[in-house]
Amino acid sequence: MTDLLTATMARVVRADIQGLHAYAVQPSAGFVKVDTMENPHPLPPALQQALGERLGRVAIHRYPAERGDDLKAALAAHAGLPAGCSLMLGNGSDELITLLSMACALPGAVFMSPLPSFVMYGLSAALQGVRFEGVPLTADFELNEAAMLAAIDQHRPALLYLACPNNPTGNLWDEAVIDRIVDAMARHQGLVVIDEAYQPFAARDAMHRLGRQPHVLVMRTMSKFGLAGVRIGYLMGASALIAEIDKLRPPFNISVLNAEAALFALAHADEYARQAVLIREQRERLFRALQDMPGVHPWASQANMVLARVPDAAATFAGMKARGVLIKNVSALHPLLANCLRITVGTPDEVTLTLAALRASL
Ligand code: PMP
Repeated sequence: MTDLLTATMARVVRADIQGLHAYAVQPSAGFVKVDTMENPHPLPPALQQALGERLGRVAIHRYPAERGDDLKAALAAHAGLPAGCSLMLGNGSDELITLLSMACALPGAVFMSPLPSFVMYGLSAALQGVRFEGVPLTADFELNEAAMLAAIDQHRPALLYLACPNNPTGNLWDEAVIDRIVDAMARHQGLVVIDEAYQPFAARDAMHRLGRQPHVLVMRTMSKFGLAGVRIGYLMGASALIAEIDKLRPPFNISVLNAEAALFALAHADEYARQAVLIREQRERLFRALQDMPGVHPWASQANMVLARVPDAAATFAGMKARGVLIKNVSALHPLLANCLRITVGTPDEVTLTLAALRASL
């Protein structure tokens, strides 16, 4: 049996897939979980109960239909989608990245992003057999404009991902530099995907580009807003372009329960906005405390995480884990991230615990 399985897999599964590693999630039960940029605040009990009652009335014996359309309309209103543009839903923005990659995976195509950035850009290119070109950021994680423009001229990427703010660095790149990169992509007739996963915590967004720059797509997620478990991402752009990418979407990719929960959350957007304010306050507290720690160098963040360099990231990560605090050691992701740790902003109590564990582990 095992021999048959091995032989069959070797014959039918693409060799390049067999050589890849799956997206890894570290086990987190029992830890202060500050590793994956979740919103640490649950809904207040009264809202939890109201949500439960609403979910209890959902017609789960039917395929999803109208609620997906209702959710698209509610998200379009929430984001301020301009005329001539449309919005499509993904099972998290991860699925949208996959669909974009599938849509643009022409033979010889190149996808690009600055590095370090969100790992799924490169991984989803690899999954489609598309060449991925990463362009290193500067040592302070700013866009290297000259290198980006040269790489765009050289490779004419079909897709360029710009995470604004960026993960895992947390910073928001200079808007004038982004403008020039967006213009260069227009000259080469390539698409720019502005990934605004962390927009709820940032001082600016890219919605003004929609309707004006037809080769720009803006991608968002409800994950960092407070619904990481619900899996709703959305992609916005010129209607004709969204219609093409939407053809690749699996039918019924958004569960009726997910759509209902997301509609509920949007109806209570004020509660989530309050939580985002708290998170931004705690981000500044975390950043300042990190600045005051000898040997620690944090970078200013516009997201709900702070990246910091420490003398020995592996030892500090292990020490914090032993003290019950789970962060992310991103050192191995890219040479520029040597000895860097990414710390998600928790509740005020979680930030206190995180800082104490960090001080004890340095
Ligand atoms: N984009 C960026 C920049 C991210 O950091 C993440 C998740 N960490 C995602 C997209 C994916 O988010 P989701 O699939 O939860 O919508």
